[in-house]
Amino acid sequence: MNLILLGPPGAGKGTQAKRLMDRYGIAQISTGDMLRAEVAAGSPTGREAKAVMESGALVSDDIIIRMLGARIDAPDCAKGFILDGFPRTVPQAEALDRLLADKKLNLDAVIALAVDDAALIERISGRFTCKSCGAGYHDRFQPTRVAGLCDACGGREFVRRPDDNRATVTARLDAYHRQTAPILPYYQAQGRFFTVDGMAGIDEVSRQIEAVLAPLGKG
Ligand code: ADP
Ligand code: ADP
Ligand code: ZN
Repeated sequence: MNLILLGPPGAGKGTQAKRLMDRYGIAQISTGDMLRAEVAAGSPTGREAKAVMESGALVSDDIIIRMLGARIDAPDCAKGFILDGFPRTVPQAEALDRLLADKKLNLDAVIALAVDDAALIERISGRFTCKSCGAGYHDRFQPTRVAGLCDACGGREFVRRPDDNRATVTARLDAYHRQTAPILPYYQAQGRFFTVDGMAGIDEVSRQIEAVLAPLGKG
């Protein structure tokens, strides 16, 4: 099963993608995570992307499309994938269509998480992840069960993203509205497009996504 999770920064794409990954045994492809790995490794791509990411702007389509093309061929995508944070521009959506056609793959569903800007700022400001396993948390909405201890792996070190600060968030939301929102009509016109109320709690959003996928015969 091949899915796209669309939505603004902080909408809950990563949170839901991880659940779908466990549920369906398909790969989560987060271009943001891939870029952060390149930055951490100090690769040429990482060096080019770092300042752009810190400013809250989008990394160039060329870099992203090249990165994604290679990723879809990885063995963990054999049963399918969830695209999380890609595509983010109309040229990326068009490149994805060409890529999928070349590989004779189809999209089963494009699911958009609708969340308003005030809630996004609150979600992004409280976001943190486990340093060792990457599990995602939120100070208020999804705290660890035991303070200071990762539920998933027992890790004690947590990280916050450098771009998860108020000043950068405004630039990221602006980039979303100007550059990413125009891909919604692109997918609406293609069909298999669904909107889920991303303002609901995490479990309720998961239920709504299941309700979209079940009739496709994949649930
Ligand atoms: P995205 O991948 O779209 O940027 P995340 O999945 O990282 O978003 O979620 C952003 C933050 O909001 C995280 O700290 C997460 O724990 C929290 N979160 C995710 N979904 C919800 C929800 N439905 N309600 C409240 N908080 C949420
Ligand atoms: P969020 O879901 O919170 O917006 P991501 O982890 O998806 O965060 O992205 C972090 C940053 O990485 C973005 O602000 C942008 O600079 C860059 N990035 C990630 N994916 C893309 C993409 N598909 N196209 C362009 N830039 C991207
Ligand atoms: Zn952990």
